Amino acid sequence: MTRSAARQQCQRLKCLQFFPSEPAAIKELVGVLEKTCSDTDHAREVVASLIETMTVCPTPAEIRRVARERQRQQVTARERCPICHGTGFELYWYLVTPRPGKDSHWEIVDEEQAAALRAKGVGYEVGKQSLVEAVRQCSCRNGKAN
Ligand SMILES: [Zn+2]
Repeated sequence: MTRSAARQQCQRLKCLQFFPSEPAAIKELVGVLEKTCSDTDHAREVVASLIETMTVCPTPAEIRRVARERQRQQVTARERCPICHGTGFELYWYLVTPRPGKDSHWEIVDEEQAAALRAKGVGYEVGKQSLVEAVRQCSCRNGKAN
């Protein structure tokens, strides 16, 4: 994340007691946010958590600890989606049925139907009924982040 974004997030800690007044100490807090947070959203979450749980301004070590904790939570949330397994992308299939003299008929099928069709020998062959794999954003948080 950028230093200016880190500085902005650091300003929010001013509502806590004993927020340092010396520029050198403030610079340390900004620096640790900048280094340990992967992006502005991460820093925003870290600062929100600090404000909610502390009454005095955190030390750089405390900021680092919360930043690591938050990062881990994000990773677990990603892994938890049973549809996309954290990738944010969901696979789906089209069953394409050629119709003589007309455009082919396209129908969306889910993983289960696709597996059943594959078991029946439906693959991908021009001019024959085929399965076409496609990908879309998962409706979970991971998908929205893509
Ligand atoms: Zn998902």
